[in-house]
Amino acid sequence: MAHPVVDGAAGGLVVTGLGKSFGRHRVLDDVGLTVPPRSITAVLGPSGCGKTTMLRIVAGFETADAGQVRLAGRELVGPRTRVAPQDRRIGLLPQEGALFPHLTVGGNVGFGLPPGPERASAVDRWLDIVGLAGTAGRRPEELSGGMQQRVALARALAADPALILLDEPFSSLDAALRMTVREEIAWVLRDAGTTAVLVTHDQAEALSLADTVVLLLGGRVEQAGPPAELYHRPVSLAAAAFVGEIVELAGDARGGVVSSALGRLPVRLPVPDGPVTIALRPEQVRLAAPGTGDRPEVTAQVVEHRYYGPDTVIRARLASGELVAVRAPGFAPRRPGETITLAVDGDVLAYPELSRAGE
Ligand code: ATP
Repeated sequence: MAHPVVDGAAGGLVVTGLGKSFGRHRVLDDVGLTVPPRSITAVLGPSGCGKTTMLRIVAGFETADAGQVRLAGRELVGPRTRVAPQDRRIGLLPQEGALFPHLTVGGNVGFGLPPGPERASAVDRWLDIVGLAGTAGRRPEELSGGMQQRVALARALAADPALILLDEPFSSLDAALRMTVREEIAWVLRDAGTTAVLVTHDQAEALSLADTVVLLLGGRVEQAGPPAELYHRPVSLAAAAFVGEIVELAGDARGGVVSSALGRLPVRLPVPDGPVTIALRPEQVRLAAPGTGDRPEVTAQVVEHRYYGPDTVIRARLASGELVAVRAPGFAPRRPGETITLAVDGDVLAYPELSRAGE
């Protein structure tokens, strides 16, 4: 996929045509991405799709077989260029274990700073920015996992990098802490005007934190764009399935409308006439009151329900034998075998049946 250099990206990160194989295994294939200055890009993809390899090439810890990496207008990787990692002005925030255990928090944050009277004040300033004022004298192990990640971020930012790379930085934190820490870190990055690339396999993390999401599938960029574009206009069934949940149904497209077991539904993105796979988002299917004129109105037999707190997910079988999931607000139990009426909101995603072959 071509990635034009957008306005302002000259000061940011521009990766083009990146290729990498380990033996016969092609891990990255013509990967390109553009990160404008002071913006956050999330590289999203399943385990093994090449995210960390790409990050390591940008940081300088891995060599590329092909391609170019430019940062702030300077070539870091090219046919005849390979700038040493320490000369790239890139900060790396790994999953965990980023701190030196034998140094204090202040010692960690000030590690890369020149010695002198200004070091202590810079350390205090960065600890203040990450919300950890007064912790300079403490040991890393005295802090929670989330606090340690913020210290690591302070250390990375203190070195005044042109780019920060975050490699699944929240994955070692438990679910509750994870949400808080990722919001705090995103806030600090934005406040500091940092250019950042976040690698994650968590689609909620990518959609909620990033300005741009780059979806990497099988070592290739499947799609890149703003979060809402990836969720609402995925270019393929594989992209739709990875970015958010979908329910798949068979359908037949004719002139922008698909016929399916859920009735005739308008299609969001152009699709050629013929057999298609429909990808429904769970929030599009809801329980309908029979006879209220909802269109289309279809009945289904309840298979099971699961209560999650904010909502109940009801799985039901359509007349075609296909299963759908319906999300009903609050506690909305349904007996197995009960007949429910369903309605579909909005237009639906549909992809040619043939696109499955490319998955
Ligand atoms: P994860 O989220 O699990 O870390 P990832 O998307 O970051 O996955 P990579 O770590 O980049 O993926 O790995 C991509 C593929 O390259 C994997 O199949 C991995 O086994 C392989 N790989 C990575 N590093 C090496 C290496 N040094 N030698 C051989 N194979 C490697």
